[in-house]
Amino acid sequence: MTESCKLNLKGLSRAELAEQLAGIGKERYRADQVIRWLYRQRVTDIEQMSNLSRSCRERLHEFSYIGRIECRSEQLADDGTRKFLFQLEDGHTVETVLINDKNRSTLCLSTQVGCRMGCSFCLTGRSGFARQLSAAEIVDQVIQVAEIVDSGLARGTITNIVLMGMGEPLDNFAEVVKALEIMKYDDGLQFSSRRITLSSCGVAPKIVELGQRIEVSLAISLNAADDVLRSQLMPINRRYNLAALLAACRSYPHTNQRRITFEYILFADLNDSLDDARRLVELVGSLPVKINLIPFNEHPELPFKKPGQKQITAFMEYLQRHHLTVMTRRSKGADISAACGQLREAVAGQAV
Ligand code: SF4
Repeated sequence: MTESCKLNLKGLSRAELAEQLAGIGKERYRADQVIRWLYRQRVTDIEQMSNLSRSCRERLHEFSYIGRIECRSEQLADDGTRKFLFQLEDGHTVETVLINDKNRSTLCLSTQVGCRMGCSFCLTGRSGFARQLSAAEIVDQVIQVAEIVDSGLARGTITNIVLMGMGEPLDNFAEVVKALEIMKYDDGLQFSSRRITLSSCGVAPKIVELGQRIEVSLAISLNAADDVLRSQLMPINRRYNLAALLAACRSYPHTNQRRITFEYILFADLNDSLDDARRLVELVGSLPVKINLIPFNEHPELPFKKPGQKQITAFMEYLQRHHLTVMTRRSKGADISAACGQLREAVAGQAV
């Protein structure tokens, strides 16, 4: 059997691993051992799993292997943000971003090669869609960056995970949920629900399903509080309008301590007026949310502009006066195109 027909052990859930091991006559607990080898020890070869018997390793070799995405380049921004370009086994590439703040290092993962949601302010969306990432390829971004961090080539340890890179995570639902499940294993990568945030453009039925399947924090890329403007900016709104999106958010398990985050990119003269702020207050109503205001990061290929500081402050203060929890976030890594909506696949032969 060639490697391309074999199963990549990374990206199999515990239940799937146990099933594969049962198929070669091995006990369920062997799956726990394999998980520790893959995600705690980060081994790259089945041979390194020294507490498995020789015969078990031989049988594993017959139908499986340990896949690996390759880091092809790395860029460092002035603010310490790092962007990694990973090449997948079939040659496609995705970008992963490590954002260092005072006491946290957040890893922003990609979930698709490209994206088919077509948000007008997003370079990923403009580059089209190539394919879904497998759970293995999503999880491996964490493993490979952890390796780079541990080898001293990048600062900090990964404290938080956000699914906010290339792609709409809920458009790759099954693989994303499996990847989240794997990242949460206590004997593996050990990311608690609190430290994982999935960001969606608003695929309403999948938000409901996500809440029923797994516990992670939710962020919504909102960007407009009226349907006409949101449909212009984000085509998903034509399928699931604001009423449908808000209904899905209300059904999502949340508490005052674990609120849903609404991300609102501020575009000059488009969604930054006090009328827009008033519509946002009305839309949110009594739903316990955090509003994350992100002044747009201008880019030569995009027609949008960043509002002036006065406008940003006025918008923020209006929300605060109406008792909303608001944060203003500066996009990180803008000088290396690592900011929100700036990630894309490398074009063959083009420097990244
Ligand atoms: S903002 Fe997100 S969902 Fe929209 S096109 Fe970009 S990657 Fe896709």
